[in-house]
Amino acid sequence: MGTRRLPPNSTIGIFGGGQLGRMTAMAAARLGYKCHIYAPEDDIPASQVSAGTTRAAYDDAAALEAFARRVDVVTLEFENIPVEAVRRVNEITPVHPGAEVLEICQDRLIEKGFLNRVGVATAPWAGVSDLATLEQADAAIGRPAVLKSTRFGYDGKGQVALRPGDGLVDALKSVGAQRCIFEGFVDFACEISVIVARGLDGAVASWPAVENRHVQHILDTTIAPAELSPALAAKAEEIARHVAQQIGLVGVMGVEMFVTGEDRVLVNELAPRPHNSGHWTIDACDTSQFEQLVRIVCGLPLGATVRHSDAVMKNLIGDEVDAWPQILAEPGARLHLYGKAETRPGRKMGHVTRLKPRKDRG
Ligand code: AMP
Repeated sequence: MGTRRLPPNSTIGIFGGGQLGRMTAMAAARLGYKCHIYAPEDDIPASQVSAGTTRAAYDDAAALEAFARRVDVVTLEFENIPVEAVRRVNEITPVHPGAEVLEICQDRLIEKGFLNRVGVATAPWAGVSDLATLEQADAAIGRPAVLKSTRFGYDGKGQVALRPGDGLVDALKSVGAQRCIFEGFVDFACEISVIVARGLDGAVASWPAVENRHVQHILDTTIAPAELSPALAAKAEEIARHVAQQIGLVGVMGVEMFVTGEDRVLVNELAPRPHNSGHWTIDACDTSQFEQLVRIVCGLPLGATVRHSDAVMKNLIGDEVDAWPQILAEPGARLHLYGKAETRPGRKMGHVTRLKPRKDRG
C-alpha cells in the first residue's frame, strides 16, 4: 500500500463535529495541521477549535464535493456517516477509514458475521426480520437475550432485554426496527476495550486493554489498564490487532469486549474511530488515540503507545460537569470540557482523567 505523507499546514477534513472530532482537531493543531469539520448540527464542539466548518446534510452533493476539494485527506469521528457520502468524497480526496469498513461497522449483523468469519468469538446471535424469525432465534438461542436494532444503536438505544416470560411481540415493537439481531445474554465478569490503530502502510499499534463501567448504558468510568491476567490482556490486544488487519482498517478503532472467564473474551462491538474508552491516552501515554489518527491519515509513522501512568477516566455526564471548579482544584486531575452550549441529562459534557504514575518506569 502506498503512503502519501502530508506536510504540516495541510488540512484534514473530519466528518462529524462532536467531542471526538474536537479532540482530533486539537491533536492535529499541535502537529501543525488544520482541520475542517463537516457536520449537519448547529452546536458543533469541533468547530470551536477548527479552521473551518461546512454545516450541511450528509446527502448534500454540492457541499460534499466542495468539502472534498478544500481538504487534503478526510477522516471521521462517527461511524454512522452515510456510506454514500464517504464514497462521493473519496472520489476526490481519500477518506480513512473507508466505506468498506463503515459498511461492516454500521450494521450489527454484518459486523458479527465478519467477526465470526475471521475467527473472533462473539455472543451467539441470529438475524431477525419479523415475528417468525424472532421465534426461531428465541428457540435456537434461548433466554436471557438482548434484541437490538441492526443499525444506529448506541449507548443502549434501540435494544431491549428479553428475560424468561417476556413477550416477543412487545420486544419487537419496542425495538421498532425492521432488521434486528437477537443475541444471547453474556453473563460477563467485566467489560473491556482495546484501542487499536493501523497505518496506511499496514503498521499496527494498540494500547493496553481497559475496563469500562457503564451507568444507564452510558460509559461512566474507564480504568486503565484493566486488571486482567497478563495472558488475557495479551489476548485482548491480539484480537483487536487481528480485527484491524482483517477489516483493512486505516485509522483508529475501539474494540469492545466482554470478559467471560479466566481466559475468554467475546467481542461485542467495533467503533472505527477514536473511542470514549481511549480518552485516557491523551494524558497517560506517549501518543494519544487522537494524535495517532492524525499521524495515520497524514501518512506519518505511528507513535509509541507506551503509557507513563495508569489512569482512571471519568466521563462528566449531564450536570456532573458542574463539578468543574472542584476538579480544577484537585492536584493531578486533568479536566477536559467539550464546549457544549447546553447541558442535558445523559449528554457527555467533558471528562476528567486522574493519573497514577507507574512506579515500574524510569
Ligand atoms: P452495545 O450497544 O451493543 O454496545 O450494548 C450496550 C451495552 O449493553 C453493553 O456495553 C453491555 O453492557 C450491554 N450488552 C449488549 N449486548 C449484550 C449481550 N449480548 N449480553 C450482555 N450484555 C450486553
